[in-house]
Amino acid sequence: MAILKVARLGHPVIRTPSAPVPKELITSAGVQRFLDDMIETMREYEGVGLAAPQVHVSQQIAVIEVTSNRRYPGEGPVPLTVLINPKILSMSKKHLIDWEGCLSVHEFRGQVPRADALEVEAYNRKGEKVRVQAKGFFARVIQHECDHLVGKVFLDRMPTLATLTHLHEFVRYWQEG
Ligand code: ZN
Repeated sequence: MAILKVARLGHPVIRTPSAPVPKELITSAGVQRFLDDMIETMREYEGVGLAAPQVHVSQQIAVIEVTSNRRYPGEGPVPLTVLINPKILSMSKKHLIDWEGCLSVHEFRGQVPRADALEVEAYNRKGEKVRVQAKGFFARVIQHECDHLVGKVFLDRMPTLATLTHLHEFVRYWQEG
């Protein structure tokens, strides 16, 4: 396994819509190794999600894992989830505003409204089509990662940049608890 280099905002790959992975390639050694590398990279940088364009690969793959969740203590952890060619089937009308950050938008935080619940269809790493229902923080992370696959970042979803905050100032002035 290998820790991959993270592309930051400004690298064209972050703004390039990615291509679907051909279904028959999902179980190939190359894609499986890449999934392992994405998971290792996400864990190394303590991200809760990582999309393939963030590691310079313009393919529709995202990995998500939340081991501890101080912000939503009632919701519990999110198990390791691999989404390949994800399609969001439905989203709740109810939106919640909360802080987001991104490994590709280094050391910033901003407030982003996201649908509180959604259903997404994707292939898992075995090449099986799965449907995932998500709420709260898990739903937020799925929306954030699916945005990466169409070349969007959380800044595009902020209704105003007035809450855009450097990480240092976020910790100092805004972080709760
Ligand atoms: Zn991100």
